Amino acid sequence: MKLKDKVCIVTGAASGIGNAIARRYAAEGAKVAIADINLEAAQKAVDDIAAAHGTAGLALAMDVTSEEQVNAGVQQVVDAWGTVDVLVSNAGIQIVNPIEQFAFADWKKMLAIHLDGAFLTSKAVIPHMYAQGSGTILFMGSVHSKEASKLKSAYVTAKHGLLGLSRTIAKEAGPKGVRTNVICPGFVRTPLVDKQIPEQAKELGISEDEVIKKVMLGQTVDGEFTTVDDIAEVALFFAAFPSNALTGQSLVASHGWYME
Ligand code: NAD
Repeated sequence: MKLKDKVCIVTGAASGIGNAIARRYAAEGAKVAIADINLEAAQKAVDDIAAAHGTAGLALAMDVTSEEQVNAGVQQVVDAWGTVDVLVSNAGIQIVNPIEQFAFADWKKMLAIHLDGAFLTSKAVIPHMYAQGSGTILFMGSVHSKEASKLKSAYVTAKHGLLGLSRTIAKEAGPKGVRTNVICPGFVRTPLVDKQIPEQAKELGISEDEVIKKVMLGQTVDGEFTTVDDIAEVALFFAAFPSNALTGQSLVASHGWYME
């Protein structure tokens, strides 16, 4: 077991990619806290994981944009399990619109969830990681951390920003044994993506099938979606990496959509 008894917090893990990471970590023996704005769904995810793997779980009601809720959630984990070994800052949403129609409130909401959330959760776990001299922070970036797409000004800006935050924390926290990396998935079929297919079709004046085949998968080498399990595998690789050599990096898993 690669994460036996490791204490992990995964934000936005009631659904999609985060949920797959939580399940994968539990399968490797981790104690996983599922932090989500949707507490009911988070509790269901914890119950499902306990039934499948028999590992300890915690459901945390956490809006990652609230400093109070983030700090309270992290404290709950520390009270229960003593520390935090792994943070996966994954919670996110998508809002698509052309720049001239992009509501300022939506822009601020996007940056708050993706960037404030990453900052606040990192800030809350880092003292516990410093105290034990080790820890791993993973940010859920995107191909949009490296590449732009139409209609996604706020998302692309936020996802690029995570690279800067990760690299800065890598430098500050490295000497204290804490590493940080960014995972950059291509399109993964989750509720976040399903919602934007009709929205993009409307905005771009094309069919939903064209959105999938051209906009989402047109640049891949094989026309395939990346899966939640693919990303969970990458998240396990980073969390279980045996030394601090691997820090300040980003890894793209996108069926070759973006190559570097
Ligand atoms: P999803 O919609 O399936 O899950 C997102 C989860 O985040 C939900 O459980 C939701 O309740 C939670 N959440 C939303 N706002 C929150 C908040 N303020 N505080 C706490 N939790 C909140 O989406 P997903 O596709 O699994 O996306 C997860 C992450 O992966 C996001 O950061 C997203 O940008 C990123 N990502 C997704 C894709 C993709 O194609 N699906 C690709 C690249 C990156």
